[in-house]
Amino acid sequence: MSAGMAKERLYLFDTTLRDGAQTNGVDFTLHDKLAIAGMLDELGIDYVEGGYPGANPTDTELFATPRKLATTFTAFGMTRRPGRSASNDPGLKALIDAQADAICFVAKSWDYHVRVALECSLEENLASIRDSVGAAKAKGREVLLDCEHFFDGYKANPQYALACARTAHAAGARWVVLCDTNGGTLPHEVETIVAEVVKVVPGEHVGIHAHNDTEQAVANSFAAVRAGARQIQGTLNGLGERCGNANLVSIIATLKLKDEYAERFEIGVSAAKLKSLAHVSRALDEMLNRAPDRHAPYVGESAFATKAGIHASAILKDPATYEHVAPETVGNRRKVLVSDQAGRSNVLAELERIGIKVDKDDTRVGALLDEVKRREAMGYAYEAADASFELLARRMLGKVPSYFDVTQFDVNVEHRINAKGERVTVSMAVVKVKVGGKELISAGEGNGPVNALDVALRKDIGKYQSHIEGLELIDYRVRILNTGTEAVTRVLIESQDEGGERWTTVGVSPNIIDASFQALMDSIVYKLVKSGAPA
Ligand SMILES: [Zn+2]
Repeated sequence: MSAGMAKERLYLFDTTLRDGAQTNGVDFTLHDKLAIAGMLDELGIDYVEGGYPGANPTDTELFATPRKLATTFTAFGMTRRPGRSASNDPGLKALIDAQADAICFVAKSWDYHVRVALECSLEENLASIRDSVGAAKAKGREVLLDCEHFFDGYKANPQYALACARTAHAAGARWVVLCDTNGGTLPHEVETIVAEVVKVVPGEHVGIHAHNDTEQAVANSFAAVRAGARQIQGTLNGLGERCGNANLVSIIATLKLKDEYAERFEIGVSAAKLKSLAHVSRALDEMLNRAPDRHAPYVGESAFATKAGIHASAILKDPATYEHVAPETVGNRRKVLVSDQAGRSNVLAELERIGIKVDKDDTRVGALLDEVKRREAMGYAYEAADASFELLARRMLGKVPSYFDVTQFDVNVEHRINAKGERVTVSMAVVKVKVGGKELISAGEGNGPVNALDVALRKDIGKYQSHIEGLELIDYRVRILNTGTEAVTRVLIESQDEGGERWTTVGVSPNIIDASFQALMDSIVYKLVKSGAPA
């Protein structure tokens, strides 16, 4: 496309709150829905589908709640029931009366479903589409019509599927959305069929709603756009029932960063907002209390992670050599993994990332690399424990003060029968700490030995206590490894501070208490370094 020519507008429609809410194990509260709608609006999504007002109490309340959103907030529901007039259908009335900017109707477009599921004539289904679109238009709403099972319907009876689309458009629907409801259609089929649809309904009124059952929902969405569709529907992180919906996160990044689309189309998401994409994706997972997919395209933690030494050195010279887009554009970051395959360049890259300045020919870099390799052979895993790596690096470069010294600890596990006759296990730990020539003794009780040790260790470290007040352990993972001669235990501990920053530390020993102790100590010392505690 030649420079200066106006770009075509492509619209994004998010259905995380409606179709995404069908995901197994996902149950949005009213508060979640409002927060997600706000996030999508902030990102620049054109349409946010809120749910089914009138059909579900949370959604009825959602639509009744005053909103300050720039997005076209959309209500979803059925067309009028067969054999009834639009004015005599309570479901349709509740939908049309909802405080929504737009209404998205779902209608059958596969003749087989009309006969078997709806049990009405093909003509009556078209009349229902016509009447429902007309009734919503009369109420001043923007209207979308989802053609359910459109692609399967088209394969079975193209004339009828097209008649449904044409009827909705003729009745005034702003968008006719072609749904791959079963998610089994392939990209080349989508492209061929959409090319036929746009001969009947102009492409600027055609949308695509793809499901991911062959893992091609994103590809199907782009196939539809190539054939002329100008609205893409999807969900954040590809949420949705079965295998999910088209992942809007990947779609947005591709539309913004790949020339084929970026040069041709304009979307509501600005380059500045694109930088919040990784955050939006992870924030949704946090809300759902699930671990973000490390390997998610563009936004996953590993999307720009490199392990092998030669790649890392090339990346330092020119990032474009091994990255299809720059990680910062979507708010992600480059990560060079420190591992047993690590070369000197990985270590240098990682030191640069964590802000440790060192000359690249400094002999201590080689010594650090040797130490990382030696420890990884023992079972340490620095890829997962970046805080322990940072401490190790700082220590070898002489940059970690010896804040305090644990001179002795004692952990005791007691199993007995209590006064109520119940079997109980109680753990107690005593820790002796030397801080600035002063010896402090603390005891702690816990539901297990590691918990008791953690409580005792963090109870009193004298003048440093204020720095660790907000420290909290949020995850504890144990793995038994066979390193050859003996089994050892690797403990990974994830900690969080008052500012919400998280870090992971590692400990390895044949003894689980020892391994845990190392990881706990690293976590505390890391927090002291991070908060700039004086030596
Ligand atoms: Zn769907």
